[in-house]
Amino acid sequence: MQTLRYQTVIIGSGFAGRTVASHLQEGSFIILERGEDRDHSETIKRYQAAKDRGMRDFDAEALAFRSDRPWNRFDRLSEFCYSQFAMVRGGASNWWGGKSSRFSPEIFRSQEGLPWPLTLDEMEPFYRLAERRLNIAGDPLLGQSREAAPIEGAAVWRTAFAPHLQPSHLYAVAVSKNNSLGTLTGQGACQGRGHCAVCKEDAKARPDNRFMPMNILHDAYVLEIEFDGDSATGVIFFDGKQTIRVECERVLIAANGVETPRLLARSELPSGVNVGALGHFCQDHAHLEIDCWIPKALPQGAIGALSHVQVQELSRMYATPLGEVETSALALTHGPGHRALAQALQPHWVKRGGAAAIRQGLAGTFKIFVELETLAQVDARVDLESEIAVIHDKGYSQLIPHFDRITDDMCATLARQGVTVLGTHRFFRSGYGGHHFVGTTNWSRSPHNMMEDDGRLGGTSNVYVAGSSVIPRSGGVAPTLTLVALAERLGQHLAAA
Ligand SMILES: Cc1cc2nc3c(=O)[nH]c(=O)nc-3n(C[C@H](O)[C@H](O)[C@H](O)COP(=O)(O)OP(=O)(O)OC[C@H]3O[C@@H](n4cnc5c(N)ncnc54)[C@H](O)[C@@H]3O)c2cc1C
Repeated sequence: MQTLRYQTVIIGSGFAGRTVASHLQEGSFIILERGEDRDHSETIKRYQAAKDRGMRDFDAEALAFRSDRPWNRFDRLSEFCYSQFAMVRGGASNWWGGKSSRFSPEIFRSQEGLPWPLTLDEMEPFYRLAERRLNIAGDPLLGQSREAAPIEGAAVWRTAFAPHLQPSHLYAVAVSKNNSLGTLTGQGACQGRGHCAVCKEDAKARPDNRFMPMNILHDAYVLEIEFDGDSATGVIFFDGKQTIRVECERVLIAANGVETPRLLARSELPSGVNVGALGHFCQDHAHLEIDCWIPKALPQGAIGALSHVQVQELSRMYATPLGEVETSALALTHGPGHRALAQALQPHWVKRGGAAAIRQGLAGTFKIFVELETLAQVDARVDLESEIAVIHDKGYSQLIPHFDRITDDMCATLARQGVTVLGTHRFFRSGYGGHHFVGTTNWSRSPHNMMEDDGRLGGTSNVYVAGSSVIPRSGGVAPTLTLVALAERLGQHLAAA
């Protein structure tokens, strides 16, 4: 078998893997990535060609990203998880919508279930590094004073919903080249065209745009990690023709919340690893949209990025018999969408005021997008035996009636504040978005903990894990900023070791 040798082998070239790698010495590491080495402009061309043939957005996107490798397929993971799952270079990080705040103080303080091993204060310096790297403001109070890429037009939105909703700040997807960090290879600036998974300007903050080129071996599907006692001695991967071994002194697994536990389960793990917790407590976010109207023209389209206003009144903990569910709610600034507009164009509007009323109805219509925490208590888990990726999540159905009650509560809050609720879209009733996969190699102050405080997998002397799988609980907030912050922490530790 062909053998390579590096000090550190990193598995996965998404944000987590590359963030850690950026702290290491060039030449000391290799990143093994199962996605093929395809230029993003090719992806855009494939997408455009599919659109020209009349294909719908999501189908065109799937076709554009499709791999020629049978092991890199788009799979639906379960009955309730409605997203497809893609293995491409840079992973899910290509898709992220840039909506990523710091986790709330309540999540760091909570002693329920799977308590955090770090405090918010301990996370602070790493959050700052991650915000700079991803070019976002993760703390609403930092608002427009953020160091990188202030959002033009943000001030207009701060009070746009007054007097109905509290003044708030914008969260925004980073606009790659439109930043002050001259060393990055970012592409064009965001034109705010809407569909951004395959951005025509290539403005999306995907890993290839946020990191300098690195030593990445594509088309390298890692099959297992080899151990001698509690030490990893090498990694075996398949390149489509042969298996190859990489000897190393340490391994970093950054293969996302589904593939990280699956890869560990394929390896002969040392006896000290807490395998009972492996793949369990998989948490994600379910979704809800609330179509709203206020008697006021909103400045929609005034900012050329995917920026959204946090609705503070609806972003909080809700008590349920299963535990507290955290939610985060964003008022979207890029127009209300056709469903909300259709609701706003009810015949009674037209009858009452004719064209002027229609204009007013449209101008004050907006959509609130809500993420609802899917609790660890329902114990969704990654199948560790199946050939393709599968999540067992029947327990999710217990959450649906509670999400219904939370939705009603939110609508009542909005009504009290003079916001007309035109309708709700309760996507959570059919399932949740499989985007985040938090908690599957849990790092918590609990018996389910699998990690050491230095980012090492417990029971091993030299295997480290980065990515959402180590996050014990993310609450109602998407995890990317936090997983990058943790990867910055781990990167500093490995560089110093
Ligand atoms: C549609 C969508 C929208 C999202 N929006 C947001 C958002 O708005 N905000 C937010 O915070 N988060 C969002 N996310 C989540 C975000 O994308 C992830 O949290 C983040 O990208 C995870 O980064 P990662 O590096 O841990 O994993 P990934 O980016 O998935 O990287 C893992 C890499 O490992 C590789 N890999 C896996 N197994 C192997 C193997 N056996 N051998 C070799 N390589 C392997 C994969 O190919 C992949 O490149 C979204 C995700 C999706 C899908």
